[in-house]
Amino acid sequence: MTDTAPQPIPFLDLKAQQARIAADLRGRLDRVLGHCQFILGPEVTELEQELARFCGARHCIGVSSGTDAIQIALMGAGIGAGDAVFLPAFTYTATAEVPLVLGATPVFVDVDPRTFQIDPAHLEARIEAVKAAGRLRPRALIGVDLFGQPADWPALRAIAARHGLFTLDDLAQSFGATLHGKPLGTQAEATATSFFPSKPLGAYGDGGAMFTDSDELAALYRSLRTHGEGTTRYEVLRTGMNGRLDSLQAAVLLAKLTVFPEELAARERIAQVYDSRLGNAVQTPVRVPDSTSAWAIYAILLRDGAAREHVQSVLKSRGVPTAIYYPRPLHKQPAYAGSHDGAGLPVAEDLATRILALPIHPDLTDVQVGRICDAVLEAVG
Ligand SMILES: *Cc1c(COP(=O)(O)O)cnc(C)c1O
Repeated sequence: MTDTAPQPIPFLDLKAQQARIAADLRGRLDRVLGHCQFILGPEVTELEQELARFCGARHCIGVSSGTDAIQIALMGAGIGAGDAVFLPAFTYTATAEVPLVLGATPVFVDVDPRTFQIDPAHLEARIEAVKAAGRLRPRALIGVDLFGQPADWPALRAIAARHGLFTLDDLAQSFGATLHGKPLGTQAEATATSFFPSKPLGAYGDGGAMFTDSDELAALYRSLRTHGEGTTRYEVLRTGMNGRLDSLQAAVLLAKLTVFPEELAARERIAQVYDSRLGNAVQTPVRVPDSTSAWAIYAILLRDGAAREHVQSVLKSRGVPTAIYYPRPLHKQPAYAGSHDGAGLPVAEDLATRILALPIHPDLTDVQVGRICDAVLEAVG
């Protein structure tokens, strides 16, 4: 037997996915090239209808990115200077960036050490602390469904209602997940998702969508995504932005939507193999009760930073790529440290030192999943 290095396993395999949908995708792209309505064309309308049906929301509004979806939602709620926007410290930067862009202040909340989702008890404490300090008005909560799993929305809604906060669900990582048997998309007053290419449902460029059951908010978001336009293009009602989705991206997403349910099932199957083979050796993801995950990220916890470094290097030598989401909690980022009030966020800080993401995508073969498990067990053994 020759001792050749094994073929590297891709962290994400968009080429293999493309091969599965090639014919349908080409047909849809050709139709856009035929009609040349490149911005908010018929594919965008069709996608909005399909996505609204998928998650049982009254309205879906296609927008230019997940970040812009968050921005439009916060603009629609009138968030600005002097407002506190509560959000988890352990998330992607975009969640915290938007409040600052609008002149508001992000207030970082710690996360649950088992599920990594925003911690409702700490949220309550943070709201009380902001009220006591009297400098900022508590105005909004951005709950993030991290890594594919849902946040504890029943608890978050109750707290938000008690304190009069606008609720926004940042669903960028978890479109396709369910909570209590229902797809995410209707847990908050507004929901924002992303179609960045590496998300569970990804476009071939930037894209995003918003969901709401409110007719008023839906109309407002449609206006805000097109420069605050009124009933005609030449009537400007409010300050908006260029936040539109383009037809080619919608065509790509419609093609991908045809295989999305089977992709979710494939990711779940892989997660179950990881759980059963690795569960005794490392801390595998703890499931949120009565939910399903979209498995954007499958993250394990190692003993400490040194153990993580070791596992990463052993896996690399075996052709297994890994990634760290997130190496720094947001309140420790130079861009945000200045707006942080100094509260301790020990769970987010601890997770950042020892969390590690394994590949999880629908085109991983059983052999590859087996190789990844073997490599992890070898590294921690
Ligand atoms: C990716 C992501 C976003 C931003 O989405 P873009 O489409 O890249 O702008 C926002 N929030 C979270 C949690 C994300 O993972």
